[in-house]
Amino acid sequence: MSLEQILKHLPFSPDCFEPGHVWLAGAGPGNLGSLTLDVVDAIANADAIVYDALVNADALNAAIDAELHFVGKRGGKVSATQGSINDLLISLARQKKRVLRLKGGDPYVFGRGGEEAMLLAQAGIPFRVLPGITAAFAALASAGIPATMRGTNRAIILATGHAPKSEGDVDWGALARTGQPVIVYMGLTNIAKISDALISGGMPPQTPASVIQSATTPDERILVATAATIAGQAVAEGFSSPALVIYGKIVSFRDELQSIIPIGVTQ
Ligand code: SAH
Repeated sequence: MSLEQILKHLPFSPDCFEPGHVWLAGAGPGNLGSLTLDVVDAIANADAIVYDALVNADALNAAIDAELHFVGKRGGKVSATQGSINDLLISLARQKKRVLRLKGGDPYVFGRGGEEAMLLAQAGIPFRVLPGITAAFAALASAGIPATMRGTNRAIILATGHAPKSEGDVDWGALARTGQPVIVYMGLTNIAKISDALISGGMPPQTPASVIQSATTPDERILVATAATIAGQAVAEGFSSPALVIYGKIVSFRDELQSIIPIGVTQ
């Protein structure tokens, strides 16, 4: 059955996107299949879409009559400051447009969605948040690494490897001592420093580790090594952003699963 036919059978009734409202939405990790129905519907009904570099531009094909504002990085350069994005959102909303602020993954996970929601609230602009599949869980699924496994972990830690200087670094030693898997967003630049800090904090150097680049997209690449060797191998093999770094025994289930059956979609 085609998607069109399936949708006709689905009792999905989206909320009304009101003029002058801003919806902060997550476009998921990159593949179109990870878009939620709410987000596709919001793209179709928006008058203005303000989107980041990690949003798959193909998703914008669902837009019917929206003006498009790209505010992501291009060639490593920030094309719009957070201040100018904030001003744009407020001005579009005050023009009584239906404004869709579209971000990669989930807007509330390391995506400044919280800051933008706070700003809109303070400006008296009605907003709502449409969640998206965050990169960590999409990447784990794609790589065949279970996020939780009974007998292996009872928690999972999501951390950023790129905190603003004013906030100081994450206490990697404290995270290591929990014995729970650690997934680092924006961690590739500092991968050597983070791996060292986790190991000096008590993580066994042989702990399985992985780098997953561009998960769910045609550029997806997966590296598996150990906490001690992952940084060197990621550099040697030319891994680049966007990528996640994962430390923990859960990574070993990828090889175990793969030894039984190939992971991923077979054609
Ligand atoms: N809000 C986003 C995260 C934004 S921060 C979310 O919920 O996913 C940007 C970081 O997310 C990147 O540096 C990278 O660490 C991670 N990321 C985003 N998309 C990714 C992908 N497809 N594959 C691997 N990592 C990704």
